[in-house]
Amino acid sequence: MKAKDTKKGPNDPSSKTPANKPSVTNQSMMPYKFEPYQTADGEIYMNERQLAHFRGILEAWKKELMKEVDNTIIEMKEASVTVLADPNDRATQEEAFNLELRTRDRERKLIRKIEEALQQIDDKEYGYCESCGVEIGIRRLEARPTAVLCIDCKTLDEIREKRTAQ
Ligand SMILES: [Zn+2]
Repeated sequence: MKAKDTKKGPNDPSSKTPANKPSVTNQSMMPYKFEPYQTADGEIYMNERQLAHFRGILEAWKKELMKEVDNTIIEMKEASVTVLADPNDRATQEEAFNLELRTRDRERKLIRKIEEALQQIDDKEYGYCESCGVEIGIRRLEARPTAVLCIDCKTLDEIREKRTAQ
């Protein structure tokens, strides 16, 4: 009987959380997986290897978004061919269409931001705050590869936005 209790130790599968795996904030936002970048001692910020790392992330993300946009266009073309008899169904379908369109619109804007970030990588200007020029930082960029502001400027920006919205 005691043996059962002692089983609930570190060997219990439920307690085996991937604690030793590096967790990336906002990974749920990302439609792909990537290995968090490991910096070497004295490594220069945004050297070739770091730029290549972010180019990989941005390109994979863009590809994923483009695929979704393409799929929606096909789905909507197919759906618009079938005319629903029930006006309620039609209204529901229209609502769903509008929601899809808004989502795609957001995605298209995001693709544009990704393209801008890729351009910055080409120009070797990627990873610095647009407002104060400070390094945005690898971890923040991994969570938000399209970030153009450092966390401090972003916070200030949000406070200002909230004030003007009131
Ligand atoms: Zn800044």
